[in-house]
Amino acid sequence: MTQHDKIYIDGAWVPSAGSKKIDVYDSTDGSVIGSIPEGTAADVDKAAKAARAAFDSWAQTSPEERGKYVTRIGEGLAARMDEIATVVTREAGMPKWLSQMVQAGLPIGSFNTAGQLAETFKYEETVGNSLVVKEPVGVVGCITPWNYPLHQIAAKVAYAMAAGCTVVLKPSEVAPLDAFILAEVVNDVGLPAGVFNLVTGTGAEVGAAISKHPDIDMVSFTGSTRAGKQIAEAAAATLKRVALELGGKSANILLDDLSDEEFEKYVRDGVGKAYLNQGQTCTALTRMLVPNSRMDKAAEIAADEVSTKFQPKDPFADFAMMGPLSSAAQVERVTGYIRKGIEEGATLVVGGPDKPEGVNPDGYFVQPTVFANVTNDMTIAQEEIFGPVLSIIGYEDEEDAIRIANDSIYGLSGGVQGADKERAQQVARRIRTGQIEVNGGAFNPVAPFGGYKNSGYGREYGEYGFEEFLEVKSMQL
Ligand code: NAD
Repeated sequence: MTQHDKIYIDGAWVPSAGSKKIDVYDSTDGSVIGSIPEGTAADVDKAAKAARAAFDSWAQTSPEERGKYVTRIGEGLAARMDEIATVVTREAGMPKWLSQMVQAGLPIGSFNTAGQLAETFKYEETVGNSLVVKEPVGVVGCITPWNYPLHQIAAKVAYAMAAGCTVVLKPSEVAPLDAFILAEVVNDVGLPAGVFNLVTGTGAEVGAAISKHPDIDMVSFTGSTRAGKQIAEAAAATLKRVALELGGKSANILLDDLSDEEFEKYVRDGVGKAYLNQGQTCTALTRMLVPNSRMDKAAEIAADEVSTKFQPKDPFADFAMMGPLSSAAQVERVTGYIRKGIEEGATLVVGGPDKPEGVNPDGYFVQPTVFANVTNDMTIAQEEIFGPVLSIIGYEDEEDAIRIANDSIYGLSGGVQGADKERAQQVARRIRTGQIEVNGGAFNPVAPFGGYKNSGYGREYGEYGFEEFLEVKSMQL
């Protein structure tokens, strides 16, 4: 049991103004593994004031010095890598071996990249008679979700601090334990007081207080489209800058020129990309678009891939590919969508709403599910499910595939796989999303990441992510 009874404000562990706590659950067996303070608006006020007071001096600290602090935090996290991977596997369910690389490896990488960028970024340029200077935006409120908890924190906190901003972080109340590890590391490296503040609690109380606090200049949010809209509305009253990384319902187009062998390879690959982190991935390729003539073949290959590779397992077991979901609420939500798919007439190829066998019945496991003959107007093709549910949709020709891919309120990610790479790239250009892979192109942690449409606005990671936290000043000389 990890019981945290303090939050981190102004360089010290302090009690919350409130007296309530929130339990944290183990996704593998439903037991309580810890608790955190249920913070209040008064805690946010205290943290925002500390961050405001620390801002001037931190913004004036040399980029080299800031970069060193941020890199040292990355080193501190690296020393606790196994502990981070274990905690996140318990919180969110990802198989431990993958957590090691993704849930621990990616955030460590973000601190290193942000630390380097602080030192190498070009903060000034001359435009005619003007000196254009890029300066930190101010105090940043960071609100993050539970699916890649530390990764999403790092994409905001590391880059904001490297850019010279001070931060108030509210991690997800579902997966908050890794944020305490970060705060401990921050404390160990002796970061100046007030630069990093941690207030835990609910979105309705702590998240809402951050969104409207007058001392906070920017809110950087990752989470659901529902909460993103509420945050943007609340932030409008004080005209904060807002960056929103929201949900997705991404299409993976398998073009009609693929050979049988390539088609099989991309169907199998597509199942994995829909199921990463049990499907609890905003960029999951959850709609697979195949030529109508190949629908039956796609369903057959996908069913084989699921039964041979993705059977639910204890995420700490060797070769686990499919752990539990993060919470009981997620199990309700995902199985509800599976029922809806059956009701609306999609063909259930594999899986279903019942509890899977062979795993702890108290864990938050669901059956990995594939639907074929899905039409794009069905609920399972339009709404983000956030679980291991793949919808296979047939198309007539290339134009039809592009139309279906873009027929979504979301615009986060996608894929186009084709024998002719040039053609695949041309199709990819016509998909209205912030990122898209062509022929299995790998995730790039320094390429700009963000959405179009209801998937939000703003970009994270790499130089683009760094610039999000900068203001631009023109000095006419
Ligand atoms: P969520 O929106 O319920 O919660 C995210 C965070 O916002 C939590 O910290 C929560 O406490 C807080 N919050 C909730 N309501 C709020 C409000 N009204 N005001 C302020 N804060 C509030 O999302 P979740 O269930 O934690 O995460 C899943 C969602 O996140 C999915 O929709 C997923 O697609 C999205 N997501 C997007 C990305 C991306 O980069 N685009 C990455 C990961 C997850």
